[in-house]
Amino acid sequence: MAKDFLKGARDHYDVVVIGSGLAGLTSANILARAGRSVLLLEHHYQLGGMATWFKRAGGHIFDISLHGFPVGMIKSCRKYWTSEIADSIVQLKGIRFENPQFSLKTTFDREDFTRIITSQFGVPQETVSKFFDAARSMNFYDDQGKTTRQLFEQFFPGRDDVVRLLMEPITYANGSTLEDPAITYGIVFSNFMSKGVFTFEGGTDTLVTQMKAEMERNGVDIRIRSAVEKIEISSDRRVTGVVVNGRRIGCSAIMSNANLKQTIFELAGQENFDPSFVEEANSVRLNTSSCQVYIALKPGESFDNCGDLLFHSEHRGFDVEALLSKQVSSRTFSFYYPYTRPGHERYVVVSSTNARFEDWANLPEDQYQAEKQALVEGTLDCLQKYVPNIRQQVDHCEASTPRTFQHYTKHWRGASFGTKFEGLAVSKKLPEQVRGLYHAGSVGIIMSGWLGAVNYGVIVSNDVDKYLTAPFAAN
Ligand SMILES: Cc1cc2nc3c(=O)[nH]c(=O)nc-3n(C[C@H](O)[C@H](O)[C@H](O)COP(=O)(O)OP(=O)(O)OC[C@H]3O[C@@H](n4cnc5c(N)ncnc54)[C@H](O)[C@@H]3O)c2cc1C
Repeated sequence: MAKDFLKGARDHYDVVVIGSGLAGLTSANILARAGRSVLLLEHHYQLGGMATWFKRAGGHIFDISLHGFPVGMIKSCRKYWTSEIADSIVQLKGIRFENPQFSLKTTFDREDFTRIITSQFGVPQETVSKFFDAARSMNFYDDQGKTTRQLFEQFFPGRDDVVRLLMEPITYANGSTLEDPAITYGIVFSNFMSKGVFTFEGGTDTLVTQMKAEMERNGVDIRIRSAVEKIEISSDRRVTGVVVNGRRIGCSAIMSNANLKQTIFELAGQENFDPSFVEEANSVRLNTSSCQVYIALKPGESFDNCGDLLFHSEHRGFDVEALLSKQVSSRTFSFYYPYTRPGHERYVVVSSTNARFEDWANLPEDQYQAEKQALVEGTLDCLQKYVPNIRQQVDHCEASTPRTFQHYTKHWRGASFGTKFEGLAVSKKLPEQVRGLYHAGSVGIIMSGWLGAVNYGVIVSNDVDKYLTAPFAAN
């Protein structure tokens, strides 16, 4: 008989959290800490969503999205998780760029970028200062009409080398483009520039294991392999429960960490929302997806320090189309050394590229496998520039595509960063449409990535808590 992953679950909870991405995990933890009864439902066999890892024979372990996040993660983890988690966050100091326009290494903070843009690119100090001040002063309530392209034109007209330095990492990080609102760029870029790029020492598995232990201490009922099929909504538009693995479980509130569009159109059903809201939700654009190649060296093999994050491109100039193209010439390499995962004496490289779902979605199986293999081969060829003996040293190598991301997280089209910016307004309006229905997770680049997802989970769980205290108060 199939195992019952809901065995012993209660018939009613204060809150059901759908999905265990970083926003879902954080919400579940905060709400349980506040004394609410919380059921966390995750369809996958592992918690973490995109913040995940996998193991392969031979003792290999690969992180999927542990490439770098801003320093703010330390404060958020200390406040909403544990000191143990916060204390494991360390800076990555070796950020490299290698492209036809420039070759440089940086600590990726304001001071070092100012040095590079003034001394190497010859831009006056005053201009650089004004740009950083403008980016840092941007906030969510500012004019959203100005695009990132216009922001760069204002400060660095005609300087596609400077634009590349400033924009390429952010595009790699979250798929944003020059046409996205300047405030989204300004906020994310300034977050990084305050102190540089950080990582979790010990790997994603350690982080998620520690988060799970903390949730258990706070009483969250955690269920894996539990796919929510339906959000149940009463005729007076209030959430009353979920259907999960064929079983109904009642609840007073729902915090969905599933993709925003999946939450509205698949789980809740558009008949439960105003037509104008449905129209707005329909027009929300999804973000692009990713391909990755995971490369592990044989035990005992190593390479010289190549930096931690390396933005490699053979393309002249910054070009979003080229970054998304299947004819990859631009990649981000994450190099993992034994010090990244103490106790695990292995060298690993993960190569990430932005990708479009449609380029992979409908390939017949044999062609799909062949194209994945071509991606692996192309990546190894490229990596040889930095790790000359990689082909002799490699023990395990495999690729993932937008199909992989869709399969594991149910994000429509494998979107690595949920939706574009307009998704945020729709996400925030959900409880005005259906009482007790909330969403937190990747929407817009501010609320995406590890830090954005955690922080959005915090904001929304506070709203959920207020609603549970006074469910009939106006939203
Ligand atoms: C290749 C790649 C590299 C990245 N690199 C970085 C990086 O270096 N730095 C950074 O800050 N960010 C990075 N990110 C982004 C970051 O990982 C995500 O933005 C963040 O982890 C998303 O968290 P989330 O809370 O939105 O939920 P998600 O991670 O999207 O998780 C949603 C969860 O909901 C579950 N779910 C969905 N539907 C259901 C259902 N019906 N029932 C039950 N469960 C369901 C899914 O299985 C999943 O676990 C990267 C992402 C990718 C793909």
